[in-house]
Parts: sequence; C-alpha cells; structure tokens
Amino acid sequence: MLAELAAVAALAAAPPAAPPIVQRFIPFGDQRKAETAAYARRHYGLDTWRLVHPRVIVEHLTVNDSIQATYDTFAPDRPDPELHELPGVCSHFVVGQDGAIVQFVRLSVMCRHTVGLNWTAYGIEHVGRTEADVFRHPRQLAASLALTRWLRCRAHIGVANVIGHAESLSSPYHHERVARLRRQTHSDWQPAAMRRYRARLTALGGCGTSAASSRAADTSR
Ligand SMILES: [Zn+2]
Repeated sequence: MLAELAAVAALAAAPPAAPPIVQRFIPFGDQRKAETAAYARRHYGLDTWRLVHPRVIVEHLTVNDSIQATYDTFAPDRPDPELHELPGVCSHFVVGQDGAIVQFVRLSVMCRHTVGLNWTAYGIEHVGRTEADVFRHPRQLAASLALTRWLRCRAHIGVANVIGHAESLSSPYHHERVARLRRQTHSDWQPAAMRRYRARLTALGGCGTSAASSRAADTSR
C-alpha cells in the first residue's frame, strides 16, 4: 500500500513530458547570429544572440493559414516590413490547427517576435487569424497548452509570465532602449483570451513537486 502510494506520488512529481515536436529549423547561420547580437546591443544593451535564462513565453497568431506559410515568413533573413530591421523575424515554435508542433529555432537562440521582450522570451505562433480560431480547434489548443506547459516547467516560468503579444507592455521584463519603440506592441492574443488560456494552463497542473504534494493531499481526504 505504501509502495503504491509512493509510486503514485513519484508519477505525480514527474515534470510534464514534451509533446511531439517536429524540428524544421530555419537558416540561422553566422550572419543572422551577428545581426541578432547587434539587435540585442541596440535594443537591450546585451552582446549576444543567445537566449539565456528566459523568463517569459509570448503567444502569437500567425495571421496566415499554414505552418508552411509561417516557415516561409521566418526563413529568409530580410528586414521586417514594419520596423525595417535585421535580422528577419522568427518565433521558436508554431502550432498548426491540426495540433502539429513545429520548432523553427533552437531554444538557446534569441528570436525577434516581441519588441521589448526578445531578450528573455520564447515565442509560440498559432496558425490562425483570431484567438477564437485557436479556441475553435481543440487539437491546436491542446497542443499549444502542452507545449507551453512543458516549456514553462523546463524553464521555471510561472503561469503569470505566459502572456499574449498584446500584453507585452505590462510585462515586468519589458525593456527597450530605443525610445520610439517603447510603446510598440501588437494586437494578437488579447488579455481576455489570455485569461482563458492561462486558466486552462493552470488547470493542467503544475510542474511536479508542488502539484504532487497537492494531489497527495487530495488523496488523503
Ligand atoms: Zn505577435
């Protein structure tokens, strides 16, 4: 009996497993790395293309209809159409409407997806045009939540720091040296949708030990 309880507790204490992820890396050679380090110098006062100890996960919408279209947007290293800067924009992952997860860059690489937060944030794209599109596709939503949970637990990021792009300006980690960009953000993943998303994420459970102890407490009642 005690052994069984211990086995249950050990299972509950295990961190969430990674969901299935297909790696399809965009080109990120020496030139793009140097451009990313230069971007980090201009915008954050950092001298690196590496993403070190990320503290935030930013959820995005692709505003297109496929993973392929998203890959095609991120792969070329060209100035973005909005701010006209190099390197080209990217996010670490995209989640398709069928629940497929594709990884575009390694977790140790800084990507340009959210002004003010790229220095410390993973970016996750969702194929779709509105937040409602994602909530309408259960497999996409489930895959997104599983990916975000695994990523946040792996990096010790609290649910409060899982934010929508539209919430970027209120993040305690927001930092931007270029004055004209300090109020720059986008409209994807509005706070109302993110409150729903974070509630679903919380309902999935914690990252191991704390969830295990609360579940153990439930068992004893
Ligand atoms: Zn966005």
